[in-house]
Amino acid sequence: MAYCTLFLFTLLALASSQAFASDPSPLQDFCVADNSSKVFVNGVVCKDSADVKPEDFFFSGLDKAGDTTKNLVGSNVTLVNVQRLAGLNTLGISIARLDYAPNGGLNPPHTHPRATEVLTVIEGTLYVGFVTSFPNFKLFSKVLNKGDVFVFPEGLIHFQFNIGNVPAVAFAGLSSQNPGLITVANAVFGSNPPISDDVLSKAFQLDKKTVDWLQAQFSNNN
Ligand code: MN
Repeated sequence: MAYCTLFLFTLLALASSQAFASDPSPLQDFCVADNSSKVFVNGVVCKDSADVKPEDFFFSGLDKAGDTTKNLVGSNVTLVNVQRLAGLNTLGISIARLDYAPNGGLNPPHTHPRATEVLTVIEGTLYVGFVTSFPNFKLFSKVLNKGDVFVFPEGLIHFQFNIGNVPAVAFAGLSSQNPGLITVANAVFGSNPPISDDVLSKAFQLDKKTVDWLQAQFSNNN
């Protein structure tokens, strides 16, 4: 009986650790994504390994600065995930270049539902931070200079803000082939269709006029 209970607990522990795992481990050297496949699986199906070429593991262009003038926050993220680099499929990793306009370029509070992010500053000075979950909501923040590294744990809300008067550049590694992105303000005030005023005014303790104004700012999801 005791062994039986132990066995059940072991099974439960294994099941829960599976549920909390990141991208599944690969079962072969590589599984280059066939991004044109119409078969839907958890990830992307593999193309025939006989057709795999060096270019499947290659991406070019992260030397180029992203345009930070296209949005109101003054930042640009160039994400190289499995859609842009097929060789990342099943490997649990991706990379991004981040550009920030001088004097306040902001990568606004956001979360990656499937990835931890480790960020290193190449140029400039960033004020960065993340907030822990309920019940403490503790902010861990730091000013980063060239060469500094900071890690944003999986799922937590985080941001980067350029406090220097020159453009800032950072590179980030993310622990998923497809990290996902939820920008807090855009998801809450810019959803399509919009979340009801009653919900947002109560949740954020704002009058409905202010909610409508915020929804107008994010309605085109900039
Ligand atoms: Mn991020």
